[in-house]
Amino acid sequence: MVMTDVAHTAAPSEGADLLSTVQQQFDEAADLLDLPARLRGILRAPQRELTVNFPVKRDNGRIEVFQGFRVQHNLARGPTKGGIRYHPAVTLDETRALAMLMTWKCALAGLPYGGAKGAVIVDPKQLSLGEIERLTRRFATEISVVIGPERDIPAPDIGTNPQIMAWIMDTISMHQGHTVPAVVTGKPINIGGSEGRLEATGRGLTYVLTSASQHLGLKIPEIRLAIQGCGNVGSTVAREVVALGMKVVALSDSRGGVYNPHGLDVEAVLAHKTRTGSVAGAANADSLTNEELLEVECDVLVPAALSGVITAQNASRIKAQIIAEAANGPTTKAADAILYDRGCLVIPDILANAGGVTVSYFEWVQGLQEFFWSEREVNAQLRRIMTNALQQVLRVAAERQVDLRTAAYMLAIQRVGDAVTTRGIYP
Ligand code: GLU
Repeated sequence: MVMTDVAHTAAPSEGADLLSTVQQQFDEAADLLDLPARLRGILRAPQRELTVNFPVKRDNGRIEVFQGFRVQHNLARGPTKGGIRYHPAVTLDETRALAMLMTWKCALAGLPYGGAKGAVIVDPKQLSLGEIERLTRRFATEISVVIGPERDIPAPDIGTNPQIMAWIMDTISMHQGHTVPAVVTGKPINIGGSEGRLEATGRGLTYVLTSASQHLGLKIPEIRLAIQGCGNVGSTVAREVVALGMKVVALSDSRGGVYNPHGLDVEAVLAHKTRTGSVAGAANADSLTNEELLEVECDVLVPAALSGVITAQNASRIKAQIIAEAANGPTTKAADAILYDRGCLVIPDILANAGGVTVSYFEWVQGLQEFFWSEREVNAQLRRIMTNALQQVLRVAAERQVDLRTAAYMLAIQRVGDAVTTRGIYP
C-alpha cells in the first residue's frame, strides 16, 4: 500500500485579512446604494465552494496530499470566471475574497460573467515540471465537477501560467473525448489562446493609467513610476509605459529592487533578471527593499505583487499622486482612507487590473466561435472597455463624492444586484 507522506494545508486564519477587507469595502458601497438586505445576504458570501484534497506522486515515488479550492462567488450575470493560484500560504478565506473581487471586476468591465477563484496550497518553485503537471492534471480532474465553458472558466493567476492552462484544457478534453478549448483562458496561442492575452493585464492598466493621468493634467513624458513586482504584470507595465515615454525609477521582485531617479534602463534590468533570477543588483541603479520602493519619490506607484502591502503604517509616507493597483487587494481599508484624505488617486484593482479577464473574455469568445482576432483588434477592444470603465467610475466618484474604489464597487454591485433581481429568486 502507498502511504501519504506529507499533507499540505494552510493555517485557517491566514487570508482572513483580505476577506474582511473586501467585505468591508462591499458593506460601505452597499450602504451608499441602500442595497436591500436580501441582496446583501446573497452578494456578501460565495454561492458555491469546493475544497479538494488530492494525492500527487512526487518524482521520488512518495505520495503527498495537496489541498485546493474552487470558489464561485456569484452566477447571476453568467458563468463564473477567475484565475487559479498556486501559493504556499493561500487559504480558503483568501480564495473567497479573490472570487468576490472577480464578480465586481467582471461586472465593472461589463463582461457576461460572475466571479470565481481557484487555489492550490503549494510552492510551485519546490516542484519539478513533471510534478507540477501531475498536480495540475489531478487538480483539474478534482474540480472538473464544477468547471466548464458554460459553467466556470479558470485562467492563470499567481504561480500559474499558460502551460498549466494547457494541461488543464488537455485533461478536461481527455475526459470529454474531444478538445474543449473554452474551458480555460490564458492558454498558449498555438492551442487556442488569444493574441495579446499574456500582456493584457499590464496593457489594460497602462490604458487606464494614461487616461487617468490626462484627467489629472499630468504630462505623460514627465511621469515617473515605481513598480513593485516584476512578474508578467509588473514587467509588461514597465515595458508599456517606457514605450509611451514615461520613466520607471524603481522596480523590484521578491528578492529586492533597484532605483535610479533618472529612470532605469528597463530592458537591461529585465535582462539582468533573466540571467540571474532577480532584478536585484542590476547595473546603473541603487538597490532598495520592497518596503522602500513604496515610498520613493515618484508620480505613480504600481503595486504588482501581493495583497496587503499598502497599510496605515506606510500610507502617509507614499509620495505618488496615483496608485494603480495591478495586484489584487494591495491596499488595506485604513490605508485607503489616509490616501483619499491626502488627495492620492487610487485606481482600484477591480478597475486597474481588469485587462486580464477582459482579454480572457475575448479568448473564450474566440474559442467558442473558432474564429480568431488579430492583436490589433484585441488591443483596440481592450482599450475601449478599460477607458469606458474608468470614465464611468470617475463620473460616479464625482457625483457621489467618494473614492474610485467605492465608486467602482457601487457600479459593480448595482449591476450584479440588478441581475439577481431581474432573474428572480428560484424556486
Ligand atoms: N487571475 C486574473 C485576475 O485576477 C485573470 C482572471 C481571468 O482571466 O479569468 O483578474
